[in-house]
Amino acid sequence: MNLHRVRWPAAGAAVLALAAIFPFYASGYYLALGITLLYFTVLATAWALFSGPTRYISLATVAFFGIGAYTVAVVGEILPWPLVLLTAAAIGVAIALVVGLSTLRLSGIYFVIFTFGLAELIRQLVTWYEVNIHRSVGRYVFVDITQNQIYWQLLVLAVLVFAAGWLIGRSRLGLALRVIGEDETVARHAGIDTTRAKLTLFAVSAFFMTVTGAVMAPRWTYIDPAIAFNPMLSFQVVIMALLGGVGTLFGPLFGVVPLVFLFEILSANFPNHFSILLGLAFIVIVYFLPQGVAGLAWKYWHRPTLTETLSDPQMQDALLVADRLRKNFGGLVAVDDLTFSIRPGEIVGLIGPNGSGKTTVLNLVSGALQPDGGRLFFRGQSIAGLNPYRIARLGVARTFQLVRVLPTMSVAENVTAALAHRERPLWGAEAAEAAETLLGRVGLGGKGGLNADQLTYIDQKRLELARALALEPGLLLLDEWLAGLNPTELGEGIALIRSLQDSGLTVILVEHVMDAIRSLCGRCVVMNAGRKIADGPPTTVLADPEVVRAYLGEADA
Ligand code: ADP
Ligand code: MG
Repeated sequence: MNLHRVRWPAAGAAVLALAAIFPFYASGYYLALGITLLYFTVLATAWALFSGPTRYISLATVAFFGIGAYTVAVVGEILPWPLVLLTAAAIGVAIALVVGLSTLRLSGIYFVIFTFGLAELIRQLVTWYEVNIHRSVGRYVFVDITQNQIYWQLLVLAVLVFAAGWLIGRSRLGLALRVIGEDETVARHAGIDTTRAKLTLFAVSAFFMTVTGAVMAPRWTYIDPAIAFNPMLSFQVVIMALLGGVGTLFGPLFGVVPLVFLFEILSANFPNHFSILLGLAFIVIVYFLPQGVAGLAWKYWHRPTLTETLSDPQMQDALLVADRLRKNFGGLVAVDDLTFSIRPGEIVGLIGPNGSGKTTVLNLVSGALQPDGGRLFFRGQSIAGLNPYRIARLGVARTFQLVRVLPTMSVAENVTAALAHRERPLWGAEAAEAAETLLGRVGLGGKGGLNADQLTYIDQKRLELARALALEPGLLLLDEWLAGLNPTELGEGIALIRSLQDSGLTVILVEHVMDAIRSLCGRCVVMNAGRKIADGPPTTVLADPEVVRAYLGEADA
């Protein structure tokens, strides 16, 4: 009954059979093209095996590929061919283990730079050895391997790399690597030996790259380090994998096929400008397709429907208008056709039980999240889906429910960061003075020289407020800013927020502290399960039976 189970293996077998008999029919040019497609398929898939789930971008592909090719140049005539391949694989894996052990602690850009440096270092070492010890620039490769044999070996490697990817994807190791890519700290605390997992996959990936280099070596009759360790190869592989998409096993293939043809066309028609055009193609791909072809398709199918103009005259004098605002997370509707408006000078409480969608609303207003529908206007201008920095400069400032100060920067710098980038930027002595004033205002006078991570939790909350105020906002979004304060601090906090209102600021206050809501808010918008269930003065809405039910957890249907 289940067609998926029957069809896929059959289709795979048919494709494989066709690919296997291809050399009997293909002419020299098409065979060469087939070889190029296959070896990039193996390299890009092997690259994605490691870099896809872990998100460690490696530029070491050519280091391993070159080691494989060079091994053939050195021992190709001495050993029988299977042993040559084994030797290459053993050297590649050994180097991957040694290098991996010392570098897989690096992450992000440091890892990228290291792997690039590694490939260059190995090339220089080989060059040094060849010139000073072997007393040659390169070597001739005399092994008796035909083009057809190269093709079939690559086909076997392609099948093996897909099989390895399939098996790893279903193993505990594959799961561990995905966890590492998401959050390495969480991975360790979930019992995952992250070093071992990364090292294992790095070595598996290096194995395929090295053997590919060895298999390809007989195509050149002469090898020197510049040919074997050409750094362009690493970039080609990364760009192919990224273009195709590294999220799935066959993703890289969707990058390999078009790009191999693009390389062919470029090198055939513009042999002298090949590198320039290739560089341009890379930039275009990274810029326009950061998520790969698969990501682009996903975006297209999920594009939001937003309208841009505000015609309702009643809403035009409001500072902020949300009209049928929507946000989904998968199947969950976190904000469900929410409509409300905020007049200038108001403090509006946005309240509701945990998980009712309050933070999501603030994320939509501040641009941290893109709405899936509805409209959003600040001072009559549509801000739905704008980049957060533009919304910040328009005068919408926020704090975060989980405090986010810049920990290793000074308290003063935390504030000048925003002063220097607002609509009317301040810099130098002016900024320093303004920062001091703001810090004084939130109760952090004299603490500007400390590092932000030296502050207590409460003081970090104060610092976040100062950073928000530094934008000279027209609208301030406070997400449970009063949570966790002791009674004295709470009193001070309430007085501070009231003084902000007195100076003309409009505030949306997400809060659970009912005393603060009662004393500060002229109006409350109450949410439950993404919807607005009440809107009015605090005393009225808090007495509303539906609101009471929502807070008691008996959410209505
Ligand atoms: P509140 O701030 O009112 O407690 P949130 O806006 O944080 O509520 O969350 C509303 C709902 O959306 C919750 O069910 C929450 O689990 C879900 N949610 C919030 N952020 C995300 C996210 N980034 N991905 C998936 N679900 C989310
Ligand atoms: Mg919240």
